[in-house]
Amino acid sequence: MSQRQWYQMSTEEVLLAHEVDPVRGLSWDEATDRLKQNGSNELIEKRSVSPLTLLLNQFKDFMVLVLMGATLISGLLGEYLDAITIVLIIMMNGVLGFIQEFRAERSLRALKELSAPFTNVVRDGEMHHIPARELVAGDIVVLESGDRVPADVRFIETYGMYAEESALTGESLPTSKFTDSLHTNEVPLGDQKNLGFMGTLITRGTAKAVVVRTGMATEMGKIADLIQNTESQETPLQHRLEQLGKILIAVAIGLTIMVVIAGIVHGQPPYAMFIAGVSLAVAAIPEGLPAIVTIALALGVQRMIKRKAIVRKLPSVETLGCASVICSDKTGTLTQNKMTVTHLWVGGQSLDVTGDGYDPRGQIYSSGALIDVSKNTMLAKLLEVSVLCNNATLHQQEHDGKRKKGKDEEFASEWLVKGDPTDGALVVLGAKAGIYQQALEGQYSRIHEVPFDSDRKRMSVVVSSSQGRMVCSKGAPDVLLEQCSYVLWEDKIIPFTATLKSKVLSANEAMARNALRVIGIAYRDLKITDQLTDESELEDCLVFVGLTGMIDPPRREVRDAISKCRKAGIKTVMITGDHQTTAEAIARSLGMLPQNGGMIVSGAELTAVTDEALDKFVEDVYVFARVSPEHKLRIVKSLQRKGHVVAMTGDGVNDAPAIKAADIGIAMGISGTDVSKEASALVLSDDNFSTIVAAIEEGRGIYENIRKFIRYLLASNVGEILTMFIAMMAGLPLPLVPIQILWVNLVTDGLPAMALGVDQAEKDLMQQKPRGAKENIFARRLGWKIISRGILIGVCTLGAFYLSLHGHADDPEVLVRAQSVSFATLVMAQLIHVFDCRSSRSIFHRNLFQNRSLVLAVLSSLLLMLAVMYVPDLQPIFKTVALGFREWCLVIVAAGIPTFLMGIGSVTRGNKKSKKSFSSPKVSFR
Ligand code: ADP
Ligand code: MG
Repeated sequence: MSQRQWYQMSTEEVLLAHEVDPVRGLSWDEATDRLKQNGSNELIEKRSVSPLTLLLNQFKDFMVLVLMGATLISGLLGEYLDAITIVLIIMMNGVLGFIQEFRAERSLRALKELSAPFTNVVRDGEMHHIPARELVAGDIVVLESGDRVPADVRFIETYGMYAEESALTGESLPTSKFTDSLHTNEVPLGDQKNLGFMGTLITRGTAKAVVVRTGMATEMGKIADLIQNTESQETPLQHRLEQLGKILIAVAIGLTIMVVIAGIVHGQPPYAMFIAGVSLAVAAIPEGLPAIVTIALALGVQRMIKRKAIVRKLPSVETLGCASVICSDKTGTLTQNKMTVTHLWVGGQSLDVTGDGYDPRGQIYSSGALIDVSKNTMLAKLLEVSVLCNNATLHQQEHDGKRKKGKDEEFASEWLVKGDPTDGALVVLGAKAGIYQQALEGQYSRIHEVPFDSDRKRMSVVVSSSQGRMVCSKGAPDVLLEQCSYVLWEDKIIPFTATLKSKVLSANEAMARNALRVIGIAYRDLKITDQLTDESELEDCLVFVGLTGMIDPPRREVRDAISKCRKAGIKTVMITGDHQTTAEAIARSLGMLPQNGGMIVSGAELTAVTDEALDKFVEDVYVFARVSPEHKLRIVKSLQRKGHVVAMTGDGVNDAPAIKAADIGIAMGISGTDVSKEASALVLSDDNFSTIVAAIEEGRGIYENIRKFIRYLLASNVGEILTMFIAMMAGLPLPLVPIQILWVNLVTDGLPAMALGVDQAEKDLMQQKPRGAKENIFARRLGWKIISRGILIGVCTLGAFYLSLHGHADDPEVLVRAQSVSFATLVMAQLIHVFDCRSSRSIFHRNLFQNRSLVLAVLSSLLLMLAVMYVPDLQPIFKTVALGFREWCLVIVAAGIPTFLMGIGSVTRGNKKSKKSFSSPKVSFR
């Protein structure tokens, strides 16, 4: 290869080649132009199923093929009208199935779009969060641990960068990355250490890089075809229903054959019985079931999106309804993650800070007296180190003309922090005292960084200035204290004695009791001779400066959400890296802890116990404090061993194993890393705990809706088969002609069932215990309801038919009337039954008109039935006649009996039950 590769060039050359300034990035205009020219940064996906294939698939069904064959025969025998109508009905059935499946497919696709990755890019001198697909060559991107590399990039600045590239190179250990150019030819991918590749994972460190290749031009693009794993997202329920479908087909065919034989034995013409049998089989097989389940799932998922919960793995929708424990992060999920420093402790003195949110207006007081920072060197040091050891920036949002000015509130909301809110609070604190980030950045330049992570619970940077180099550290006080040998006390650096340490710890404890998140600050001046080679030595022998305490107000909605969970038999557990006392104070204010006590366990205590010991008390714990990510995995596993279905949140790289292991892994949409999102089943687009509860509510509702239409469809089918079966066994004529059977299948089973799939949840949905994870779909009497209702529908339809025959079954005119009666009865009975299916109790339990789509579906089915019976041109096709008043009375009574009987049954049962349930406690948690 003669052309020089990106890894062979220096960073300057790469930047020059892309005509980009590393600080300002590309301009928006330039980026837009390049995007137009070179296309978006996406791997082109092969289209899965074309709509045409999907449509043709509808007619592949075995029984449909048999029916078409039979129709062909009847067409050849001269029954043109029959043949054409049957073909039309089959067509309409196919189109309906196609619409259902196409809609399902499309909603699934839309979901994929939603979880598309974002990336941080510098454009026009500012950092922006944009969809990764909008990246162009020349863009400057900022990457940190947990990110997926969004395109092929050349690094221009790295701090302790490691990337895991196994997807490309097969090498499972992370490789360290740097910015130097390589000078050999033909360097294998795994050794191109100054390049980052699309789709690989940053496991540690931070970096700035310039995009060199996008989309299909990337290394990943070259092998895109190989790795396109279109993972099928079949849920356990869908899987079970598919198997159930097979059983039902066998049963339906078996019964049909018996119907046909019985009919022939009793003297029905074999040809007519054949057509009737095939039609019955087509009607009785619930071929629409899988598609309706998919639609119910997909529409439910869309409702969840409206409530800010993005489902990444469809099966988890079902699991959601079974969740019995939610393990939630504290910071940002239970709280707002809008930090404000309100207290300081430095050199033995407690200080108060005024001001609101990120608005940098405020003062520092000591017992009511204003402090002049320029005269307090220790305080000045505290502020300086806090601002230097910091990756957040403070911005004032520009006014847009439409906004009304004047109100203080609105003014305050215009300050915003980019980066970690904990860091941001410290920048704001500095600004309040006149120690500005920008001014400090002019004086000091950063030469190294040891990034924050939840395991170490601290971060450090090395800065250099004309006075020399300095290590600036901040972190959890208990952790940081271990690294400190000196303390700043009475303006001097003195050895950190045990007495002084205990003073710091009790100050820390006092702040934590007030629900403050406490960050300790320390520093060290480096000698010229100090080497920077070993990171671990960098944070030794630090000089402790002081403590900063920040409030992080609980989210307002969370209290209610937690009590909702309690009523729903779901326990909420707080898991946090924060200090035990802070965690407890916040848990109390949220009502997570029982009035007297509630067990709180620290990470250190967790480390000390075995898994067996943990199992003994894990169900009693409400707060896990100062934990590391690997503790989360142990907690999940332990709860699962106790038989719980666990929902677990997480945001960092190290949280991924716990998220994966949980039954419902939940990632944060805003603060979460790409890795945690990829491991998760659910992403909260607002990072909010209440969204989890909303998702669980939807999950329960979706499952119940699926049960509703399974109940409806199967009971209807049982009714249809039994009507025919009993008639044939009893030697009666056909109660329904084939076309009527097909019509019932198309009209009553189609729209009303779909409308049940989007039914509103019952009011007490969140007052029941979670359903067992292994619960059968027919549990809680559903199977019984289906069979008993099916039998009632069948018997009543047949009864109406029999009465209308008046013993003159051989008179064709009487027979046609009687068939019209049974047709109308069957349809009406099903259309009444559909309202029953909305409630697990009785039809009278709910507002009949609440589900508008159901009312519309039922009305249109009714109209279609009347059309078939009353439009003169349709009568000969459907073998119907217009019924008289007395016949209608018979139809309505017969169709209403099942609902009436079952209603009475459930009311008496319901009374007994409600008396019982008062004494039994609803929630089983201690
Ligand atoms: P959580 O998100 O549950 O509050 P983290 O793992 O983020 O827990 O933080 C654990 C501890 O690490 C905090 O209590 C705090 O003391 C410290 N800490 C958090 N963020 C930072 C940061 N940006 N720099 C230094 N220390 C931090
Ligand atoms: Mg955190």
